[in-house]
Amino acid sequence: MRGRRIELRGTVQGVGFRPWVYRLAREQGVTGRIHNDAAGVTIEAFGTAPILDRFVDGLHSSRPPAARIDALTWKPIEPEPVTSFRIVRSASAAERRVSIPADLATCAECASEIFDPTNRRYQYPFTNCTNCGPRFTIAKDIPYDRAATTMAGFPMCRECQDEYDSPLDRRFHAQPNACPACGPRLRALSGLGVEQVGADPLTLATRVFLRAGTVAVKGIGGFHLACDATSALAVTSLRERKQRDGKPFAVMVRDLAVAESLAMLTDQERELLMSMERPIVLVPRRGDSCLAGEVSPANPMVGILLPYSPLHHLLLARVGRPLVMTSGNLCEEPIAYRNDEAVDRLRGIADLFLVHDRDIVTRCDDSVVRVIAGAPVALRRARGYVPRAVPTRRPFERPVLACGAQLKNTFCIGLDDTAFFGPHIGDLENLETFRSFTESIACMEKFLRATPQIVAHDMHPDYLSTIYAETRSEAQRVAVQHHHAHVASAMAEHGLEGPVIGVVYDGTGHGTDGTVWGGEVLLVDYEHFERLATFRPIPLAGGDTAIRQVWRVALALLDDAFGGDSPLEALRLFSTIPTRHITTVRRMIERRVNTPLARGIGRYFDGLGAMMLGHAEARYEGHVAMQWNFAADANEPGCYSYALAEDDVPCTVDLRPLVREAVRDLLAGTVVSHISGKFHNTLVNVTELLVERATRQVGRLPVVLTGGCFQNALLAERVVQRLANRDVYLHGTVPPGDGGIALGQALIADAMTRRSSPCA
Ligand code: ZN
Ligand code: ZN
Ligand code: FE
Repeated sequence: MRGRRIELRGTVQGVGFRPWVYRLAREQGVTGRIHNDAAGVTIEAFGTAPILDRFVDGLHSSRPPAARIDALTWKPIEPEPVTSFRIVRSASAAERRVSIPADLATCAECASEIFDPTNRRYQYPFTNCTNCGPRFTIAKDIPYDRAATTMAGFPMCRECQDEYDSPLDRRFHAQPNACPACGPRLRALSGLGVEQVGADPLTLATRVFLRAGTVAVKGIGGFHLACDATSALAVTSLRERKQRDGKPFAVMVRDLAVAESLAMLTDQERELLMSMERPIVLVPRRGDSCLAGEVSPANPMVGILLPYSPLHHLLLARVGRPLVMTSGNLCEEPIAYRNDEAVDRLRGIADLFLVHDRDIVTRCDDSVVRVIAGAPVALRRARGYVPRAVPTRRPFERPVLACGAQLKNTFCIGLDDTAFFGPHIGDLENLETFRSFTESIACMEKFLRATPQIVAHDMHPDYLSTIYAETRSEAQRVAVQHHHAHVASAMAEHGLEGPVIGVVYDGTGHGTDGTVWGGEVLLVDYEHFERLATFRPIPLAGGDTAIRQVWRVALALLDDAFGGDSPLEALRLFSTIPTRHITTVRRMIERRVNTPLARGIGRYFDGLGAMMLGHAEARYEGHVAMQWNFAADANEPGCYSYALAEDDVPCTVDLRPLVREAVRDLLAGTVVSHISGKFHNTLVNVTELLVERATRQVGRLPVVLTGGCFQNALLAERVVQRLANRDVYLHGTVPPGDGGIALGQALIADAMTRRSSPCA
């Protein structure tokens, strides 16, 4: 007899891993036990050497569909005379914390059951097993057990109970296990909320889709608004009703083959589409796709996702064409997730509601991912990823709550050696969203049994997240500079202790000198930052108004570059702007009335995009900047000039030469794709120079690229290429934009309030 302690790291919790190992051990005659620990699972296995070898081989060679093994290590231990193999519920605090898994996409076996007429779950929209199904969104409390989920009100029938109790069944301890006899039921409500009795809900929904109507579909983390993605009429009317002007819609397709017909996919993108998290994957759209142009107007990319609940599978199979699947909300409100609330808020948008009686406890939007420089980068971290822990190499001394930023808010709780992001909350700009923010925080604190002693927030005094932090008077509050937090988030994700050189190209963030920052090179460790370089500021007449009315930024850039002698009459943009508006804005800038100075690279994208493409206004956040990105010819070799004010502290990049040359190009008839290409190339040159300069000052440190502008794949990839001889880090599962900032806030607040030295 021999004994081995086997440790597995990776995605091995809440994905049916322990029952799977249990079955493997039983099959092979191995005795011992398995339990979850803070970082994965630990197995203590006993048997003869050949049996244990075969067991370890089995662990290596196959696994449950949703699991991912990053590392398997083992060492010999004393054999114990045990006669069976057991799943042990560990009592450690660490395990309880991770005991609520993220929601999992329907597995292949469950998907085939619902299409099998001989199966008792044929056409059943709430089919799931230990490898798949809702988790986080139906959990009311820990531990994650049926009694503490919204499945508590559905006593299992005899057959389901047998599956649940049988260790050899795929549904052994599948908490949301259900079937048509005992589980939740699908219902259809009319657009006014009246129950449609007697008719099959899926048939009714299909009819609405084929008539170019909109169906509100209750999914895993909330309601979607869905319509036929191939019908311009359907998509346009959904846009109008939802008051969503131009912002791209995500599209759900039946399977990978349909996805291939809509977009050009790499292996990595295929893998992401099929992953158990089932995020929306941003991919280049095919010119000949059957999608209506209105799905993502003037946009070469399209967000695609595959079905992740049985209801989606059934709907897509019935309709037989791609469906727009956009969050069920009006404009900037949070996604609707309760039946009555959905009918209330989405009345007038949806022609039909597909609802059910499995309640959602925590709303959770779809996640969004894009492959940049050969690796996935999360643009929105939500369903499928939340509440999975992000390991931090530095343990938190005391529990920390980090409140995040204002836009694309997510919060984060730091405990011991892990950080937990809450779901994507959205822009904290209305009461509804603010309520969702405070409710989600309360929920996560309960799940984690955490009482934060430190509350971190942005330095901006007017962010609702800052105002919320001030209400947490029981805790010590720490204000964190926005871009310091961006860099620290990326550091944490890659386990960097610092110091690092952080290149932050961002929209806006409150600076410490009264200007708005966002084009910064910083020397960063968790406790401190020092500003090494920045960009010449742009006056934003009207503050946030200029971020929407981007022509104001264009005007400011031109007047600065041409010393007041700007060739406005030659630019198409200004032919649409009344002269008195131009005069007013100039006066505001001159007298500095409600005109903050902003250094965000995002503003340069806005301003150049406005003047070159003729967009006076952004239709949604980042719209014009994104158009300017898409306009770029990736094969353009040229670039523009810039100046560096070396004596300024910090040294300041002056892009006035770029503006002058770009305008000259435009007036000479150069195609805008070349101008945008040269603009991007210039930023890459500037970045290289700033990093070289920083290296001379502070040494050859790792370089971290962060901030919202690094969602721009062209910019990110070019900078990474250019700095190929350096240690360069982009983001991964933590977003580069403001949705990722909370992690950095948490680590910085911990470092700044430490009473003891950190031990890694
Ligand atoms: Zn399943
Ligand atoms: Zn049942
Ligand atoms: Fe930011």
